[in-house]
Amino acid sequence: MGRTALVLGGGMVGTATAWHLQERGFNVTLIERNEIGRETSYGNVGLIQSEASEPYAFPHDFRTLARVAFGTANEAIWHLRDLPSVAPALLRYWFNSFPTRYARISSSYNAMIQYAVQEHERLLTQIGGSNLIAKSGWKQILRTQRGMESALAHARHLSSSYGTEYRALDSRELAIAEPSLKIPMAGGIWWTNPWSSSAPGQLVEHYANGFIQQGGTILKGDARTLSRTASGGWSVRTVEGAVEAEQAVIALGPWADTLTRSLGYRFPLFVKRGYHRHFSWNGSLATPLIDTENGVALAPMLAGLRIATGAEFARRDSVPDYTQINNSEKLARQLLDFGNPVENTPWKGARPCLPDMLPIIGAAPKHKNLWFHFGHGHQGFTLGPATARLLAEQMSGNAPYIDPLPYDPTRFPSAL
Ligand SMILES: Cc1cc2nc3c(=O)[nH]c(=O)nc-3n(C[C@H](O)[C@H](O)[C@H](O)COP(=O)(O)OP(=O)(O)OC[C@H]3O[C@@H](n4cnc5c(N)ncnc54)[C@H](O)[C@@H]3O)c2cc1C
Repeated sequence: MGRTALVLGGGMVGTATAWHLQERGFNVTLIERNEIGRETSYGNVGLIQSEASEPYAFPHDFRTLARVAFGTANEAIWHLRDLPSVAPALLRYWFNSFPTRYARISSSYNAMIQYAVQEHERLLTQIGGSNLIAKSGWKQILRTQRGMESALAHARHLSSSYGTEYRALDSRELAIAEPSLKIPMAGGIWWTNPWSSSAPGQLVEHYANGFIQQGGTILKGDARTLSRTASGGWSVRTVEGAVEAEQAVIALGPWADTLTRSLGYRFPLFVKRGYHRHFSWNGSLATPLIDTENGVALAPMLAGLRIATGAEFARRDSVPDYTQINNSEKLARQLLDFGNPVENTPWKGARPCLPDMLPIIGAAPKHKNLWFHFGHGHQGFTLGPATARLLAEQMSGNAPYIDPLPYDPTRFPSAL
């Protein structure tokens, strides 16, 4: 059958995988049940976060834990109804956030993050420039002196550990840099090297167009119909009938378990849900802003000003609770003047997370010619092209550009 592959899932992760495999001479069919880049990879804040060398840890300080537990933290909320199903993964997440483990995990996280911008750039260079990207970084804005001091300590730590570049802005400098801010802030951290996109879903489509130009095929189909062929390859049902290939990649983001479970894997995948809503707005920001003390992102998008939330610990499919996005809107209105909502209801999505904060990338231990590529948590939009390169190198038998071991599926022996 030659070098052929099915990539299941057309988010940032699957689309970048399809592109990398096609570039290495595979004949690739990308399977998506809806439209390309219309789920989690559409609804995010659009940051390509080269500064995110360390993943989001489970909080261990008493003050934050108490705020989250008593429901006064807008950046992270939870629901009693969903606690029994999410608690086991959260417990492991909490355990992995202890300093020694977290330091080891961060080193593996940084190994991917440091190539994130470069790997997006590689795609953009090959496919042709995109006007959907700004290269001016993003700003963390702090309301309180206490918040500013803690943000500054974190920035200094990232700078000394990983060489991350930033500029600390005092209250006056921030007001000059972002004149649309209505209230005086304690200050800000300007992460100068990250990129941002004004239409994250369209950027994924742009990459998908590059994949098609290289000879790739995109078909609508249901990944859950994946089955073995007599020759040891894989087949999936699409609107154009069954499509077969030698290899298959599961890149279904927060839905990965809808297929991996039926294949006999029980990975501790859980989600941190998030919401956004666009608002009409005539103003401008020099960069996207995040009010980190409240977990509110303010990102200028083609569709309007996108207000996005932090984490909601809930089951992926339980009913939406708009409290967090409504509170975020109120908090954002303290900061900027903007108009009415563009959509009737807020968008809801789910960050695909694993308790050790690392994605699963590599060969399926129990199935020949099957590969996993999911669980990118808070930074899948950032990491998609970088981890796609890693997986494509493994599938092609080329030397991987970073050590693949920390992301290998076998690190969860009880899931196999
Ligand atoms: C509010 C919010 C803000 C965020 N901000 C950022 C940010 O600024 N920067 C960043 O890097 N990351 C951010 N993230 C995280 C990022 O969006 C995700 O990590 C990333 O989009 C995951 O990409 P993915 O391709 O794995 O999943 P998805 O984009 O969800 O793609 C999975 C695809 O699989 C398809 N699919 C599912 N089931 C089937 C099936 N049975 N058959 C066929 N297809 C199927 C879906 O339709 C979907 O298109 C944010 C997330 C949220 C929720």
